[in-house]
Amino acid sequence: MTGLMEGKRGLVMGVANDHSIAWGVAKALAEQGAELAFTYQGEAFGRRVKPLAASVGSDLLIPCDVEDIASVKGVFSTLKETWGGIDFLVHAIAFSDKSELKGRYADTSRENFSRTMVISCFSFTEITRLAAELMPNGGSILTLTYGGSTRVMPNYNVMGVAKAALESSVRYLAVDYGSQKIRVNAISAGPVRTLAGAGVSDARLMFNYQRENSPLKRTVTIDEVGGSAVYLLSGLSSGVTGEIHFVDSGYNIISMPRLRELQA
Ligand code: NAD
Repeated sequence: MTGLMEGKRGLVMGVANDHSIAWGVAKALAEQGAELAFTYQGEAFGRRVKPLAASVGSDLLIPCDVEDIASVKGVFSTLKETWGGIDFLVHAIAFSDKSELKGRYADTSRENFSRTMVISCFSFTEITRLAAELMPNGGSILTLTYGGSTRVMPNYNVMGVAKAALESSVRYLAVDYGSQKIRVNAISAGPVRTLAGAGVSDARLMFNYQRENSPLKRTVTIDEVGGSAVYLLSGLSSGVTGEIHFVDSGYNIISMPRLRELQA
């Protein structure tokens, strides 16, 4: 299928490099004809994002640090001036101090708990509110989450708590904006080797464990996340909102791996 995003404009937030999940999403959207704008966090990332954006025909790059409300508002005023409105938005942003993505969740500090929640959860609510003002004819908004939200994943700690709050935000926002024909969904991706992913202690072990124990016996690619993102951001999913859609090789359905296979 081609042209699913033809005539649609949208913002992709969270590309750090060509391994980023947001980049897999951006490529898939561009392949389906979408016109894209990107945000980047700081000039160092900006230098990496610029050629990537150019490769999908975009020169609309806007700096954004979600800890700074002026910077977030600036993104949407630039979009309003340049395009007038948008049809979709991708939020692929998360952060927690690496020193607390190991050991016990119980040892999380007050400071890092708040910072993690603001960047990884509250930013989605604030951005959805601002994006909705630019979607007078409706739209589709997507964020990225991980299964450590509902099941304990070693070392994921405060990020799991932030993802649980993010997933709950998806449901509340879906109700708040449903009457404006704005849909709000999340993709819960399996582990992917990215900068953020590498911040979690023993990330390689987690990656290998999920590969061995998922029904498909492999991990997912950023292109596969991109394919599902096209579905959720295009008219194909016009009846879907408030959904947490797993793209994880089926790992989330497993309670216990087949022990006979492990012993063999
Ligand atoms: P990534 O490091 O490529 O992307 C994370 C992005 O967050 C970066 O672009 C970074 O600039 C941005 N960011 C962090 N703090 C920010 C701030 N204060 N202001 C603006 N931007 C900020 O890693 P990724 O794995 O592609 O992460 C994207 C999303 O996918 C995250 O929400 C992450 O939790 C989620 N996710 C990742 C995995 C995985 O295994 N990698 C699995 C499921 C979900």
